[in-house]
Amino acid sequence: MSGRFDGKVALVTGAGSGIGAACAARLAAEGACVGVLDLRTAGARATAASIRARGGTAMALTCDVSDDKQVEEAVATLVTSFGRVDVLHSNAAVLDHGVYGRDRELETLDVAVWDRTMEVNLRGAMLMVKHTVPVMPDGGAMVLTSSVSALAGDTVHAAYGASKAALLGFTRYVATMYGARGIRCNAVAPALVLTPAAERALTPDQLAVKQAERLLPWACSVDDVASLVAFLCSDEARCLTGQTLVIDSGTLAHRPQHAVE
Ligand code: ADP
Repeated sequence: MSGRFDGKVALVTGAGSGIGAACAARLAAEGACVGVLDLRTAGARATAASIRARGGTAMALTCDVSDDKQVEEAVATLVTSFGRVDVLHSNAAVLDHGVYGRDRELETLDVAVWDRTMEVNLRGAMLMVKHTVPVMPDGGAMVLTSSVSALAGDTVHAAYGASKAALLGFTRYVATMYGARGIRCNAVAPALVLTPAAERALTPDQLAVKQAERLLPWACSVDDVASLVAFLCSDEARCLTGQTLVIDSGTLAHRPQHAVE
């Protein structure tokens, strides 16, 4: 196997499913040894096992990214085996957290939902960067998963978009702080990624509305996001830092407009 990440060590959070699993698999396929971190042990193990089945190197790590001590320990465990972390993709997130209730209308929102969303989506990313920076060689790369919800309002979620927008400020802070060491930090902002689970969760009418919002006739897949993340983590993106890359098949690039006669 040879690729852009030969000899590199990568750490991907929320890698037990969805975007994180695809990014972990992509970085491994291009040569990285990957720490596959997730709150759910079964998910982390499944992603790591599938990487190993394809001849890659992966270590499953169970960790709650919102917990300072757990993050410190997870990073230390990876470093004990692989020596350092060259690439961080901070991707773990919650949306509509089942345990705490739903992230819906503000007036009926349980503050526990707001707090947990901020804890995982924002504090979690901060803790990952905090504990990874000391073990990242100069020239390393970080990508934080934001969302189109950071850039345009919606009427569905109260906390999620705010948490993902705050991440963009944090992305620029990290880029500013560590740029002199050649460490780059960028954010990706995907629209809803159409996984089979997402497709099942939406009605045909809702899917049609989503399609009408896109300029392109296709939705993004997790592999499309993985391609962008791998690019941003690679030396091909050596002059990109502090940026937000929207990946949404052209959802935010236009607005409804009617000609005035
Ligand atoms: P997407 O398709 O956008 O990637 P998912 O819900 O499939 O969304 O992925 C989010 C991942 O983040 C899940 O695997 C989930 O278990 C993980 N996750 C959620 N909360 C935490 C947390 N506190 N610590 C670590 N991982 C988490």
